[in-house]
Amino acid sequence: MRELLSGNEAIARGAYESGVTVATGYPGTPSTEILENVARYRSQIYSEWSPNEKVAFEVAAAASCAGARSMVTMKHVGLNVAADPLMTLSYIGVEGGFVACVADDPGMHSSQNEQDTRRYARFAKIPIFEPADSQEAKDFFGLALEVSEKYRTPTILRSTTRVSHSRSLVELEKREALDREMGMEKNPPRFVPIPVWGRMMKEKVADRLSSLAEEAERSLANRIERRDRSLGIITSSISYQYVREVWPQASVLKLGFSYPFPDRLIREFADGVDEVLVVEELDDFLEEHVRSLSIDCRGRDVISGVGELSVGRLLASRAKMEGREPPSPDRSFAQGLPARPPVLCPGCPHRGVFYALGRHEVVVAGDIGCYSLAAFRPLDRMDIILCMGGGVSMAHGFDKAGDRRAVVGVVGDSTFFHSGITGLIDIVYNRGRSTIIVLDNRTTAMTGHQDHPGTGRTLQGEATKALSIQEIGRACGIDRVTTVNPYDLRATEAAIAEELAAEEPSLIVSLAPCPLRERRPVGPVRVIDTDLCKGCNKCLKLGCPAIELEGDVPRINRFLCGGCGLCQEVCPHHAISSMEAR
Ligand code: SF4
Ligand code: SF4
Repeated sequence: MRELLSGNEAIARGAYESGVTVATGYPGTPSTEILENVARYRSQIYSEWSPNEKVAFEVAAAASCAGARSMVTMKHVGLNVAADPLMTLSYIGVEGGFVACVADDPGMHSSQNEQDTRRYARFAKIPIFEPADSQEAKDFFGLALEVSEKYRTPTILRSTTRVSHSRSLVELEKREALDREMGMEKNPPRFVPIPVWGRMMKEKVADRLSSLAEEAERSLANRIERRDRSLGIITSSISYQYVREVWPQASVLKLGFSYPFPDRLIREFADGVDEVLVVEELDDFLEEHVRSLSIDCRGRDVISGVGELSVGRLLASRAKMEGREPPSPDRSFAQGLPARPPVLCPGCPHRGVFYALGRHEVVVAGDIGCYSLAAFRPLDRMDIILCMGGGVSMAHGFDKAGDRRAVVGVVGDSTFFHSGITGLIDIVYNRGRSTIIVLDNRTTAMTGHQDHPGTGRTLQGEATKALSIQEIGRACGIDRVTTVNPYDLRATEAAIAEELAAEEPSLIVSLAPCPLRERRPVGPVRVIDTDLCKGCNKCLKLGCPAIELEGDVPRINRFLCGGCGLCQEVCPHHAISSMEAR
């Protein structure tokens, strides 16, 4: 039976069919739907959102060491968080097959950087597989698991935004029946990488890499497509699809098992063509290696490594190689439409906090989440963002640098559990005095409303203990812990002013659920009485997309209004009221 599946759905299906029994992860676009789809097989696969990628990686690694086929999912920056266990799991090796499914985001559609996960495979000396469509996403998952068990190595299945989110037909098969007794064998020289055993492990890793290179030479995931011999293109992942459209006559070496590099195959391919071109997104990972084999090739000189590739970009590269003028870009269907910059949703509880922060001259260290949108005008109240959890620790850094202004760190609830807690401990331990605000909207909103340790629900839909951010703050040693309702602007402003003035660190929890998750408005729709409105435009300073200008006069779009009432609170002329009250 065939089904139309996204790449992420296909990876989940691959996990199911391959007999995976333990799956963990942390949400992050474009990888999130992998684990959400794995969770649908709840009677066969245990799945969980872990507090962060490092924890998720370690849970899945342990399950694998006990013999279970296991997987972990994350986006590319998540692998930075999990890099510590990754590097040593490579030494220890695995028992049950272990696949880390990592999705890169070329073009930074929803990420803070563009990084190339293939570098991690080489860094950790483990194999990597790169599917180019949904069928391959499913098949390569199975292949990665097979290679993992055969060579007792962790493996990476690398997707990208286009592979993860595009749909294509996939042949479905039955789940592989496994009858295994789980349990970790006691064998310290095998599992304990203290120096004396770690050195021996490193020797084994080197030997394993040579064997894996042989496996890559033979793998059906790597194939030569012979066509016209004047140009041969080496490519992988989604770039393969673009190559077939832009150079339909060219010979192609498609690498699906791309590391360790299949050197003989690369040489054989290059020997059979007049000119070699490497087409790859992000880093010049393949090109660098092809050149190291003394094979002359083109690549970065005609295809930039910045941003996402597309057929249009590669048509321009082809024209450049052939000394022609680049074709004029296709008129996009979106051309001519007004720009629609990302904004906090109408009714978003974060808006009140940033509006209140705007009344103070403070430095705001932000974090990864929807609230990063507060960096845009008119709120304009986020000064720097580094990484998950960085909002808390960076606030402490600004404080210790002696910034003359008060310092505020802003972090979301899911991000607080992910990696904000250790920063809080640092502030207390090292006698800082920053004000940390946790924007607790009771969900991991930005990635599509996943649960986390504070929500009281697991990925598999079971009720569980909900951790209290306030109690954790107190346990970390923060004495000043306040909870505010961000829709009560006056109370929020007062709490922020009070904590900024305090001579010790404080934690403000801004508590209000995301209205999109609740699927209901916060309150009644508001309306502007044009007779009372004086046109002061104070309501526009909230940056609510439901408040529009009609000529010079603001009006509220009743179909967008989330009923939060913030505009009513800020209007000095009492021109805004709820529709119900009229
Ligand atoms: S804040 Fe009130 S008076 Fe000022 S523009 Fe908005 S609705 Fe009119
Ligand atoms: S228009 Fe006013 S009440 Fe409606 S969502 Fe925007 S700020 Fe809230």
